[in-house]
Amino acid sequence: MEQFGLLNDENSEKYRPWFTGISKFVRNMWPLADQEAIELGTHFFIFANVFDDLIDTNEPEIGMKQINRAINIVRFGKLEDEPTPLERDLIYFFENLEVRFGNQNPVLNQFRNVFIDYFNGLMPWQNIKKLNGDMSMNLYYNMRNLNIGVTPNFGIGVLFTMKRLNSNILLDPLWKCLKEQAGRICALYNDVFSYEKELKENDVRMNSFHFMKTQNNWTDQECLEFVEKELDDCFEQYFIHENLIIQKFIPTLQIKEDQEEFYQIVDIFHKIVSSVLNMYKQKPKYKSTDSIFVELRI
Ligand SMILES: [Mg+2]
Repeated sequence: MEQFGLLNDENSEKYRPWFTGISKFVRNMWPLADQEAIELGTHFFIFANVFDDLIDTNEPEIGMKQINRAINIVRFGKLEDEPTPLERDLIYFFENLEVRFGNQNPVLNQFRNVFIDYFNGLMPWQNIKKLNGDMSMNLYYNMRNLNIGVTPNFGIGVLFTMKRLNSNILLDPLWKCLKEQAGRICALYNDVFSYEKELKENDVRMNSFHFMKTQNNWTDQECLEFVEKELDDCFEQYFIHENLIIQKFIPTLQIKEDQEEFYQIVDIFHKIVSSVLNMYKQKPKYKSTDSIFVELRI
């Protein structure tokens, strides 16, 4: 990070705790990964966090320019003119992935594509935050799924895990159901845990705990019951589709090691959800002395 001037005296106070949190998050998510994978994974999440912050804290025109430049880096594998430290960091990250996995590895290409989708979702998310009017859960889920980042997270997880299986299995749309349900679950947890912080910062419009509460005039308790019910539904759908994909592919895999790898890939979602949840529970900025959630009181 220091290498490209991403971490400097000015931002060190803000970024250092983030970076520490992210490295714990990655180790929690991939306990069996080798050191190089841990470093690459940490690199990815640091980039995504810093980039997200950049878009959050800049005017839309500047944000859009940054997004397009980042997309071009991923798409062409080349830096734009006068690259920023963050852009040099992004290309360095992809160069390292290419060294490890090969430039035209289909799983790496899939990861590139979902990363571009993620970039493309950032500005619509910002725009809708500024609009007035009611939010609905279906619009929310639709936008939040891109924004929460589970899909690129799964993409990089598969890249580290898939060594034996044919990557064509990833084209099955059942994976998409798993990504969507895992994304919804992470988003709902994020809303509950970040609710009070976002309320204080006047950044709560796209938080479902908030908009369901205000639109329906619900109490905190009623709102929690709603979130619980949504989570139950998402978990149920998740497990239905997880079973379907296991039933579909496991009988086609004759070798024990292939089956094990398949289960490891399915398990990536479990690790993502549990690591995200752990991270939210520990995040200092979500805690306060008088939180409505006992678990978040200091
Ligand atoms: Mg939030």
